[in-house]
Amino acid sequence: MRTRRHTWAAPAAAGGLVLAGLAPAGAAAAGNANNPRKLAQAVEVDAVWEHLEALQEIADANGGNRAAGTSGYEASAEYVEQVLQDAGYETERQYFPFTYEEVLASSLVVDGVTYESRIMSYSPNTDGPLTAGLSTPATATGCSAEEWGEVDATGTIALVSRGACTFAAKSLAAAAAGAEAVIVYNNAPEPLNGTLGSPDDGYVPTTGISGVDGQAMLAALGEDPGLQATLEIEVLVEERQTFNVLAETEAGRDDNVVMLGAHLDGAMEGPGINDNGTGSAAILEVAVQLAEVKKLNNTVRFAWWGAEEVGLVGSWHYVEDLAANDPAGLDEIATYLNFDMVGSPNYVIGVYDADQSTYEAPVDVPEGSAATEQVFTDYFDSIGQPWVDTEFSGRSDYQPFIVHGVPASGLFTGADGVKTDEEVAMFGGTAGLAYDPNYHTAEDDLDNVDGTALEIMSKAIAAATMSLATDTSEINGKRSAGKSGKPHPAKDAVDAHEVVPTVA
Ligand SMILES: [Zn+2]
Repeated sequence: MRTRRHTWAAPAAAGGLVLAGLAPAGAAAAGNANNPRKLAQAVEVDAVWEHLEALQEIADANGGNRAAGTSGYEASAEYVEQVLQDAGYETERQYFPFTYEEVLASSLVVDGVTYESRIMSYSPNTDGPLTAGLSTPATATGCSAEEWGEVDATGTIALVSRGACTFAAKSLAAAAAGAEAVIVYNNAPEPLNGTLGSPDDGYVPTTGISGVDGQAMLAALGEDPGLQATLEIEVLVEERQTFNVLAETEAGRDDNVVMLGAHLDGAMEGPGINDNGTGSAAILEVAVQLAEVKKLNNTVRFAWWGAEEVGLVGSWHYVEDLAANDPAGLDEIATYLNFDMVGSPNYVIGVYDADQSTYEAPVDVPEGSAATEQVFTDYFDSIGQPWVDTEFSGRSDYQPFIVHGVPASGLFTGADGVKTDEEVAMFGGTAGLAYDPNYHTAEDDLDNVDGTALEIMSKAIAAATMSLATDTSEINGKRSAGKSGKPHPAKDAVDAHEVVPTVA
């Protein structure tokens, strides 16, 4: 990677800060980066990249992932906390419980051939490898005793088709017919991801396979009814504690808070560097550079959420805790900015479409969200950077905020959606390919992050943060005279009279 420079970044370097003669040589962070353009300049992609490298090293040293409830998450948090503390912040951990799930074994071998199988959620374990013959119900879908008919499945592994009823019903019916386990094959060619919906003592171990594999297995069974299958399912499920990491500027009025969030946990399948090392690293560097700003009108609060990948657990905990115990504190959040994947290899420069100009949102969009979106789009327009809308779907950590009426928007470079020709014309890349082909895989690593996208987005986050730290009146009508604050008290006296400009 390494990045191209943007013409908009150049002019600001010649600005007034150098006048004092105090600017460190070569540092874009020189001086008091107290307007959006200066803070955007101060946030350099090389520094963001260093944070990403640290997260990759942490994943490598911790079994290849940084998932909630693991040592990789703990180490990720310690890294973020150390960087924040070095920049002058106090950090806080907010703990909460969640259900930790880890697949310890999942395999299916039939007649010596290994098949890809996907354990259904809430499946019981096999307690070691289970080897047995295969059975099929009288009616392929195997939904009930009637569909099993005269077949005695005792001691077998049942092979049943998707369709006509829930996977739970199939598991219960196979168990009633005597089966030790169930393989459900898809009624379409592709693989099958299923859930039994909720726990039930009546289930037998249940896994899913593709329609293609299901038909192959049926054909093999037709030729050799004595076919043996070996299935192993072992999933660890337990309650664990994890936490959010929180920090905020001392500067800025306490009753008007601009909040930025990115989930720090990754999926179990890989190191989680684009999803969401990128958002975490970008807001971390924005926090570092913002700490150098002498005076802010509004408080800026940063959150690194835990357990996003298992159901937005950390962000929901944070918002519900405020709603229950400090509703005034929730009201004081002027707007929430979410960053979940901002370095996708086949990227778009996407802004959450809060004004629904492209996508009708499937959720209620709080008033003030459109004005939040506009802070990003005005910035991109001002530097001639093309951007597209991405759906305001609520499918990341802004969900609890918008459900509680807090305005929100955010940036997104794309996940498993497919890039269009129009988007290729705007951003380059490959049409017909996913924005991030490595989404939730072991390949979501440092080699597959796009540095140009990361740079564009990191600077946009910086600019939007500084704009909103100065003024949120378009969002919530609050105009701030400002209050000085001191992430770095020793340096603060120098610019005590600095006026924070209002941003167009
Ligand atoms: Zn994510």
